[in-house]
Amino acid sequence: MIAEVLVDVPAKAVDRTFDYAVPAAFESIIEMGQRVQVPFGPRFIMGYVLQLKETTEVQGLKAIKGVMDLVPSLTRELLELGKTMQFTTTSPLVSIYHAMLPRALQSKYKKTLVCHDITKLDSDVAGLFNRYQEAPYNDSIIPFLPAIKQYIQQGVIEIRHTIQQRGHKKYITYLALEQPDFPVRGAKQQAIIKYLADYDEPQLKRQVLMATKASHSTIKSLLEKGIVTEIEEETYRQIQHRYDALNKCVTFTAEQQVAYDAIHQNLNQHQTFLLKGVTGSGKTEIYLNIIEDVVTQGKQAIMLVPEISLTPMMVSRFKGRFGEKVALLHSRLSIGEKYDEWRKIRRKEVDVVVGARSAIFAPFEHLGVIIIDEEHTDSYKQDTLPTYHAKDVAMMRAEYYDIPLILGSATPSVDSYFEALEGRYTMLTMEERANQTTLPDVYIEDMRYEFQGGNRSIFSKRLKALIDDRLAKKQQIMLLLNRRGHSTFVMCRNCGEVIMCPNCDISLTYHERNDTLRCHYCGHDEQNPTNCPYCGSPHIRYMGIGTEKVEETVKEMYPEAKVIRMDTDTTTSKNAHEELLYQFEHEGDILIGTQMIAKGLDFPNVTLVGVLAADMSLNLPDYQAVERTFQLLTQVSGRAGRHELEGEVVIQTYNPDHYAILYAKDHDYESFYKTEMKIRQLGGYTPYYNIVQILIRDKDVKRVLKIGTSIVMQCRKELEDDVIVLGPVLPKVARINNYYRAQIIIKHQQSPSIDRVLKELYNTYNETIMMAIDKHPQLL
Ligand code: ADP
Ligand code: ZN
Ligand code: ZN
Repeated sequence: MIAEVLVDVPAKAVDRTFDYAVPAAFESIIEMGQRVQVPFGPRFIMGYVLQLKETTEVQGLKAIKGVMDLVPSLTRELLELGKTMQFTTTSPLVSIYHAMLPRALQSKYKKTLVCHDITKLDSDVAGLFNRYQEAPYNDSIIPFLPAIKQYIQQGVIEIRHTIQQRGHKKYITYLALEQPDFPVRGAKQQAIIKYLADYDEPQLKRQVLMATKASHSTIKSLLEKGIVTEIEEETYRQIQHRYDALNKCVTFTAEQQVAYDAIHQNLNQHQTFLLKGVTGSGKTEIYLNIIEDVVTQGKQAIMLVPEISLTPMMVSRFKGRFGEKVALLHSRLSIGEKYDEWRKIRRKEVDVVVGARSAIFAPFEHLGVIIIDEEHTDSYKQDTLPTYHAKDVAMMRAEYYDIPLILGSATPSVDSYFEALEGRYTMLTMEERANQTTLPDVYIEDMRYEFQGGNRSIFSKRLKALIDDRLAKKQQIMLLLNRRGHSTFVMCRNCGEVIMCPNCDISLTYHERNDTLRCHYCGHDEQNPTNCPYCGSPHIRYMGIGTEKVEETVKEMYPEAKVIRMDTDTTTSKNAHEELLYQFEHEGDILIGTQMIAKGLDFPNVTLVGVLAADMSLNLPDYQAVERTFQLLTQVSGRAGRHELEGEVVIQTYNPDHYAILYAKDHDYESFYKTEMKIRQLGGYTPYYNIVQILIRDKDVKRVLKIGTSIVMQCRKELEDDVIVLGPVLPKVARINNYYRAQIIIKHQQSPSIDRVLKELYNTYNETIMMAIDKHPQLL
């Protein structure tokens, strides 16, 4: 038997399979989708079995060395899906399969030095080896490399490559009493026997140790005498939650009932629904009920949320409804925890997965529905290889299983809304909040006017007055500023120089907490200088504000208030999100945060939301920047007054007449959509044109432009005449981490040859220059 194996060679584009012989011992167990170990060049690597066959043309076939799974990691459906995505995303197939699996299943390659005759080594080199004649291949051997090289040539030392799985199963150990009447002398030993004799069943070893205060060596001696035995049982790691499972029983509103019925009646055929419902209209209740229907049919459900660790309340609702039958997959889990959750899915122990982007690859085999909540969110798109969009993958899987795909949002992406208006998606709308509360009043504050009136504070007069009011009433406040750090840039008042990142074309941000300047692009950080590095003047000034500065100001203004800040700097530790939200809900007065706080939060006592600088995201070069601003403002406004108490929102801006801000104030999606569509049409953007971005990077700026130009020429030559190819252009921040970037944009309405040409380009240039092709790009 012959296996076609896709090997795990990440960097180089070995985007094809190699044939290997299947040894007789494996013939009965080998299956498509399994991970295997195969010889490749001088070493062994991991690979995926894509096909089994009886014959091959290849001469001198090598054999598979080991089978790493008994149950294939990849299902047939996922294997096929990967092959389609290889073309639609222009990514190497192996990178796609990696993206489908938890990191725990990916391989670590370890190099070890093995010595065959330690007596032949000089004492320095011999000192590197342990009693098994092995030495780790790491920095410690560097001084001895010349000698080692000679020993290798003489055949005394060998380099051994081993493959290890990144993550492991976790086991718990039980102790079982085998010979209760065996006479022992030690008091501790007797205590253990007595403890175990009190139960009929084996007991947790940890528990026994604690209860008897015995030591491991006591247990060891009992084990050696055969009086007790150890039983190991595989277990799952427990994910800790701050919020309890919650199960509310609601009677649908009329609007909810209509939307629910439409989906419910079409559960067994593929159709895409766009559920457009204002914040708080009860979309989540609909999802829960549809999933319950699907589970009753014996099928499974995938529910994607933007970044699950941000919405512990959502998780508690799912746990409340489906209990242990829910798996969670999000970026805050450890490698081991993700592996456990994935195994629960693969073993059919759960019916529902709630997760971020990569959960779209959950290896269910009888999917009944896929739901994407907040479908407009950027985080559904992966920016690194493979650059897939979870929505596209969801579409393919939903078609395969012939099941509904539900896209939910209060502010659908312009592209999805267009699809729905064109009739390709079924539109379902909900205009009312489920609990009869009204949407909050929104005020726009013109910060130019405030400044002219002598207000130098970061708060407009109205926002300040409303904060005073809420603090007096013991109600809660959320303040959004979409920029972390203390100040956005640091400038010398003497010479006017701005302190820049040495590796990127961008200014450094001051972070007060450890008095450093940091680059938000490459991560470079340096001590905050006391004098200007250019002219030596001590007059350094911090310009622009970030969340740290807002926190500082608020604490000065309201020393009594309990202030909590949430941004990537305060949420690095594992459960920080959940802890901070819990603290805020139970004892906080003011929550300051980046866009992280805009989504999904449902706190009854929040009655004021302030957006400090709405313009921040408006001025970015990407054509979707305006849409994102509108969505962000609408989302964050939706956090205010969700229950009995009425809410108010203040948006501070320097562009009070911008349509994104005006329509967000009126909660007027339709008008926003109409205006935005005119601009998209004029500019030639989605949904009128498909946009493909090709990004190339190199340390040499001339090389980037030269290769960029030949790519553009090749595109113009090979693509249809009506396809527009623009560039290469160096973006405003041209250099990141010392690499120059150039952008090429392709706009097309319907190009039959685009996928083929992109794949050819990738194969041609991938070895020459770093290159990324993206069909859902953020333009630079
Ligand atoms: P969305 O997902 O659209 O933001 P949710 O489903 O989270 O809305 O509902 C908002 C709030 O209203 C939640 O507290 C939810 O429990 C409540 N709710 C939803 N539907 C109903 C209903 N039919 N009757 C009463 N309360 C409801
Ligand atoms: Zn200076
Ligand atoms: Zn940098």
